[in-house]
Amino acid sequence: MSSYSKIDLHTHSNKSDGELSPTELITKAANNGIRILALTDHDTISGLQDAKKAAIKNNINLVNGVELSTQWDNRTIHIIGLNIDSKNKLMVEKCKKLKEMRKERAEKISLKLSKVGIEGAYEYTKKIAINGNITRYHFAQFLIENKHAKNLTDVFKHFLVKNKPGYVSANWPNLDETINLINAAGGVAVIAHPLRYKITATKLRKLIKEFKNCGGKAIEVITSHNILKEVAIATDYAKKYNLAASIGSDFHNQKTSWSKLGELPLLPDNLLPVWNLWQDNN
Ligand code: AMP
Ligand code: MN
Ligand code: MN
Ligand code: MN
Repeated sequence: MSSYSKIDLHTHSNKSDGELSPTELITKAANNGIRILALTDHDTISGLQDAKKAAIKNNINLVNGVELSTQWDNRTIHIIGLNIDSKNKLMVEKCKKLKEMRKERAEKISLKLSKVGIEGAYEYTKKIAINGNITRYHFAQFLIENKHAKNLTDVFKHFLVKNKPGYVSANWPNLDETINLINAAGGVAVIAHPLRYKITATKLRKLIKEFKNCGGKAIEVITSHNILKEVAIATDYAKKYNLAASIGSDFHNQKTSWSKLGELPLLPDNLLPVWNLWQDNN
């Protein structure tokens, strides 16, 4: 019997910065043994309809999700909303606004790049971000394609980050607003990849406490990397702060080796799985 989890609650499609369409993603997940999958595109729920159709066809359980960019303590934190009502008006409206914010940010990033002699970034990203949700990943593609950087690591070291060309400070909604929105849409708010933020343990504890105070309910314990030590740390946080535990690959594409679909380890069984908190939104 496979010891891989059949549940993956953090994935991306080409409605944000993933490679596969929602239909392709669901089909691939099903072929790779996933039974329950959440599509959690960055700041958009526009892929959920297609995903639902494909899920029915492939006999997969689709969880409606979104990964919301959030501003906290001068940095960007990702909060996942799981099992949301995809027709919730507030959520639909907010995603519309975030798409517009992304467009404006993309124009600014492009302008900044042109100041160091790199032209045409906006036009390129607009074309490849097929749904209009332009992310820094699309800019990374542009920079790699045009030989300004070797790979993603190179891009996020030399461009698009603080004090580097193409950096634009983010202006995402705050933690309180984001969690309220998820709760209003009947969902469960989850701190995504808690150990990937470059913050001290003290800061992370502060984040978790504020997240809880705002109505957040869960934390990702199994994430894309799953270094044993990190799983243990996240498990401790879940227990200490009485948070439910989530599991998600953060799958973007087939090239990134750490995020293959269907190869996540099981959630530690001494934790409350996040799906025990679902409300019936259907
Ligand atoms: P944005 O939400 O527009 O700021 O874009 C963030 C996206 O860029 C993330 O979701 C990743 O897909 C990608 N990204 C950010 N930092 C890195 C990195 N160091 N390596 C690879 N991809 C990254
Ligand atoms: Mn991404
Ligand atoms: Mn993320
Ligand atoms: Mn993600």
